[in-house]
Amino acid sequence: MRLVFATGNKGKLREASEILGDEFELLSSAQAGVTEDVEETGLTLKDNSIIKAEYIFSKTGLDCFADDTGLEVDALGGAPGVFTARYAGEGCNFDDNIRKLLAELAALDAASAGTPVPRTARFRSVVTLIIGGEKHFFEGVMEGKIALEKAGCGGFGYDPVFIADEYPDQTVAELPEETKNAISHRGRALRAMAAWLRTSAK
Ligand code: IMP
Repeated sequence: MRLVFATGNKGKLREASEILGDEFELLSSAQAGVTEDVEETGLTLKDNSIIKAEYIFSKTGLDCFADDTGLEVDALGGAPGVFTARYAGEGCNFDDNIRKLLAELAALDAASAGTPVPRTARFRSVVTLIIGGEKHFFEGVMEGKIALEKAGCGGFGYDPVFIADEYPDQTVAELPEETKNAISHRGRALRAMAAWLRTSAK
């Protein structure tokens, strides 16, 4: 089955291809002829995943899906959440975001008179699939905590500072890609989508 994945992020495209396997042929937005990005103006992950999927569908008319992911840090009241990609401001990169996150948690620690704040957090992905013009939604979560410092060079985004509950001695950036995919938010959401496509898609 051929599907467009509404992304220009090569790391995400590679992960999704690994997760979905040979049954699914994935095209990036650019491979489907869409090179401009749509503005993510939604107030929730679901809203933004709908905006991205609808944009690709409106431009190509092809079956497609989009994901939107947020990092929810409990000590920060669930932030950065829907602002995860641009936590350190518009145009920031992954390192800027990580630096800001570690600085915010260090500031809370400093203000809490020697009692470190809990570092529990989770990644949440919401996938919108548009197939035959109809929308379907899938969600996946990876629970864990924020490390004190960066480690590892695999994955992307916040992986160097995220420690998944299943592998408490390493960051996700230190895990092999297959291991990350087996437990990740996106892996869970995309496997749910693939299972639905195998059983329910006409
Ligand atoms: P998006 O909505 O999927 O593009 O994700 C928003 C932001 O979340 C990205 O820019 C990354 O900073 C972060 N992110 C998404 N997925 C991952 C992941 O698997 N590991 C680490 N960071 C991620």
